[in-house]
Amino acid sequence: MQSTWQPALNAGPQLNNGISMPWLGLGVYKARNGEEEQAIQAAIELGYRAIDTATFYQNEDGVGRAIRNCGLPREELFVTTKMWNDQQGYENTLKAFEASRKLLGLEVVDLYLVHWPVRGKFRETWKALVHLYEQGSVRAIGVSNFEIEHLEMILKDSPVVPVVNQIELHPLLTRKPLLEFCAAHNIRVTAWSPLMRGQIDLPLVHELAQKYGKTAAQIILRWDHQNGVIVIPKSVHRERIAENAGFFDFEISSEDMQRIDRLNQDRHVGTTYQDVDALYGA
Ligand code: NDP
Repeated sequence: MQSTWQPALNAGPQLNNGISMPWLGLGVYKARNGEEEQAIQAAIELGYRAIDTATFYQNEDGVGRAIRNCGLPREELFVTTKMWNDQQGYENTLKAFEASRKLLGLEVVDLYLVHWPVRGKFRETWKALVHLYEQGSVRAIGVSNFEIEHLEMILKDSPVVPVVNQIELHPLLTRKPLLEFCAAHNIRVTAWSPLMRGQIDLPLVHELAQKYGKTAAQIILRWDHQNGVIVIPKSVHRERIAENAGFFDFEISSEDMQRIDRLNQDRHVGTTYQDVDALYGA
């Protein structure tokens, strides 16, 4: 594997409220009991500057320790968190935010997301996020797992447009209409499970990895990047954390980009809106 040191890993797109976030972040879902701290330390050494956590991951305290111990000034890091589905509604969200902020040990959170559009609750939740944004407790607010219909409701209700929509996105789930809707409204897309939770054994991706002299993970992450999508791959292994940062120094041809697009099967590897709605919808 080639060296993956990228001095500009903190570079990224400007969001619709004027701030920037890195193109690459470290996901820490399922990293617990100190694993998250080691992974974050390694990631920061390798040049990562963004971390994606959530109350649901039960590791915000570990993320907070890693941030405090990493030796970087706070302003060089970009930290995202999200409230869980049973914490939605206006007042509950404000409480959930305070709990996250305390666990993370942060005065200001960079990006706070509505984790899922919980039916009957998410519009009030969004109002609480707008309040947090207006009082300066968060630098930006966004959503996660929102379909077009949910985004339309938020756009209708609120003058504050989500800066990002963080969604499951990978070659087997390309979600073109949702991507087009987000682009049209200046909502940046972030891909969760970009590596399909490690099931990246696709013949075309391997063929392209050979062709470009890259790994399968790097091909997929580059495909996201060329589509203007932020990625937050998760790993607790230093070599993979390094590998996953190695997609900035090559270009996939437009023909090969389209071949990857055609792998779409609308197939999820993670939780779906229907799963969440059945459990939490009001
Ligand atoms: P990913 O697609 O990032 O895959 C992570 C899995 O792939 C882990 O098992 C990891 O193993 C393995 N892996 C990592 N790098 C490589 C590599 N280069 N080659 C082969 N295998 C690899 O899945 P996630 O579901 O974790 O998604 C990423 C992040 O997105 C989460 O951590 C979380 O922050 C966020 N997320 C958000 C959701 C939401 O609802 N908003 C839902 C789910 C995730 P190992 O760690 O052992 O290296």
